[in-house]
Amino acid sequence: MADQPLTLATPVTDLPDVGPRRAAALNRLLIHTAADLLKHLPHRWEYHAGQIPIGRLQPDTTATALGEIANCRYIPPVGRSRKGRFQATLEDDTGTLDLVFFNAPYLRDKLAPGMRIAVTGKLTTFRDYLQMTNPKWHAVDEQQTDSPNPDAAYQPIYPATEDLASETIARIIAPLLDPLLPQIEDHLPDDYRQSRALPPLVDAYRAMHRPLDPDHVAAARRRLAFDELLLLQLGLTMKRHHTRAHFTAPTLPTTPAIDRHIRDRFPFTLTDAQNAVIKDITKDLSQPAPANRLIQGDVGSGKTVVALYAMLLAAADRKQAALMAPTELLAEQHHASINAMLTGSNLNIALLTGSMTPAQRKQTAADIAAGKTDLVIGTHALLTESLEYHDLAVVVIDEQHRFGVTQRAALRSKAADPNAIPHTLVMTATPIPRTLSLTLFGDLDISTINALPPGRQPIDTRVVSESQHDDVYTYLAKRVDAGEQLYVVLPAIEDSSTGLRTVRSHAKLLEEKWFASKRVATVHGQLKPDTRAQIMDRFRRGEIDVLVATTVIEVGVDVPNASLMVVEHADRFGLAQLHQLRGRVGRGSHRSLCVFIADPTTDDATLRLEAIANTTNGFDIAEADLHIRGMGELIGARQSGLPPFRVANLETDLDLLRLAKTDAESFITSDPLLENPAHKTLRARLFKHYKSALGLGDVA
Ligand code: ADP
Ligand code: MG
Repeated sequence: MADQPLTLATPVTDLPDVGPRRAAALNRLLIHTAADLLKHLPHRWEYHAGQIPIGRLQPDTTATALGEIANCRYIPPVGRSRKGRFQATLEDDTGTLDLVFFNAPYLRDKLAPGMRIAVTGKLTTFRDYLQMTNPKWHAVDEQQTDSPNPDAAYQPIYPATEDLASETIARIIAPLLDPLLPQIEDHLPDDYRQSRALPPLVDAYRAMHRPLDPDHVAAARRRLAFDELLLLQLGLTMKRHHTRAHFTAPTLPTTPAIDRHIRDRFPFTLTDAQNAVIKDITKDLSQPAPANRLIQGDVGSGKTVVALYAMLLAAADRKQAALMAPTELLAEQHHASINAMLTGSNLNIALLTGSMTPAQRKQTAADIAAGKTDLVIGTHALLTESLEYHDLAVVVIDEQHRFGVTQRAALRSKAADPNAIPHTLVMTATPIPRTLSLTLFGDLDISTINALPPGRQPIDTRVVSESQHDDVYTYLAKRVDAGEQLYVVLPAIEDSSTGLRTVRSHAKLLEEKWFASKRVATVHGQLKPDTRAQIMDRFRRGEIDVLVATTVIEVGVDVPNASLMVVEHADRFGLAQLHQLRGRVGRGSHRSLCVFIADPTTDDATLRLEAIANTTNGFDIAEADLHIRGMGELIGARQSGLPPFRVANLETDLDLLRLAKTDAESFITSDPLLENPAHKTLRARLFKHYKSALGLGDVA
């Protein structure tokens, strides 16, 4: 080990101060090499020199301040729930700072007016005064006003684990900085980097691990966040550029005759909003570049017919179209409603889902391969590798938020001719917040159906507590008596140990107590597809009054006469889910009512219920959801199939993201595969990060 030179590739096991136990702990943090250590960035920095004058302290930062105790006192607990606290005021020439120590009567013997102490902690404001709660503190000599080592003023605090403290990580990293930093190659060309006022990569890493001051950190953070955003944008742009340049899709022109023919099939006139989106689609499909378009429209905005329009354009040209839905229930419903609209046509429409028998599936697959099938509707079973299409021209993916980038790519690659790929349309009712539309869905064009069909009545939303549970049903029983249909949604099918109501137990109760003379049925994921389809059909025809369900009915289900909904244990559902569920009602001419029953026990749940009660617009809901859950979870790696960001924060780095997008476009326009020698390192980093996630393998 001693004679091996230290490089970025040096395994952590060869580093001084790292034995097998520490190496294992580092590995658990996915740190294997010295380079991984440099990339393990502090998430905050503590200021340890006592040099920030009190008057310049900022709320919401963690800092160390030095001063003299002006006064202090102990306030004993009042009442049973209150805690006792020790309060002190710290003073220097520039200002005063309130210190609060909870449950610390012993401080009476330790702190006294006139003492000089240094305190470290998080700063908050309380009634306009700057305050530090439970700070770390130590007494300071009269002379000791400066840090002995100004370089060590800011101490990095690293993401740590139980068996690996931040200080240990700091001690391992510190001696690596000087030998290793010069070995880091900057992947951004110098003149470009300077034009964007970004520091060199080496400086950025140095500043993160050993910052001089907060501005230094901010510049470094900006550089590293930008790098992440730029790489992703480069990947998306390269992929899209490549697809445009090397693949073609069938051109599907729309003639007035075809347009009329298709519209005649729809039982209503399309709205202006639908027509605007259809205009985008017909333009896309008339060109040989494969379309890749996201259609967003709130629940009930009428996305299905827009999808069908595109599919029928393929059929008009004697080519195939596929519609993929996220659940079997929804696939079955699309199949039924599309069949209904196309009765009497000579088109062959097939349904393909995972729970069909192997024999059925084999037959359907054979018909698709032979070109006997014109339209195929299904679930992710449409992605099965062995499934071959005769001449697939249009793919529609409904309710996109359930599918990741990778799945979209898989379906698109299902064309017979390797250089021909179908046009792809993606429908979603969960509007994609702008930041996500630039990242996760950055390879898509976007159209929005921005209005609902006419005649929709607003939905009344009520959030009520468990104590009103029975009153809710007493009221709803009257409306069901008058002919309206009711959905009741529960979080689980069967009696769980949680003591919550479930589909089974609750259906029984409803039947006994409020709906004895009514037809109550249940629907959930454990039913056989046939049974489930029958129940949904009967509900649609009005032969069932009360449908007790799990979230299988969450997306897409469309029964206009069902105008009532109760969601039990509503605090258990996500905000987007609540909005989707509510979207099942409000589709017909009755004025709809949606009741959410819950006694929320967490702040997040309370916020979700407040948001759903006050907002009916899906875009506002999506924004609220983002704030409550945070961006991180929304684009969780699991859902997106993309590696997560370490530094970039999509909520706060929107400007940086926009810059990355524009710049990525100019990079790729001038050098589509980044083959210019000046872009060598950039290309290498790009492929290292995104080759598999974005399928860049077939690009170059
Ligand atoms: P989404 O998928 O966007 O949630 P759907 O496509 O299921 O919405 O449409 C919701 C309801 O509105 C359906 O009952 C559909 O038949 C109806 N609908 C769609 N477009 C129109 C329109 N232009 N005029 C009247 N009703 C429409
Ligand atoms: Mg839909």
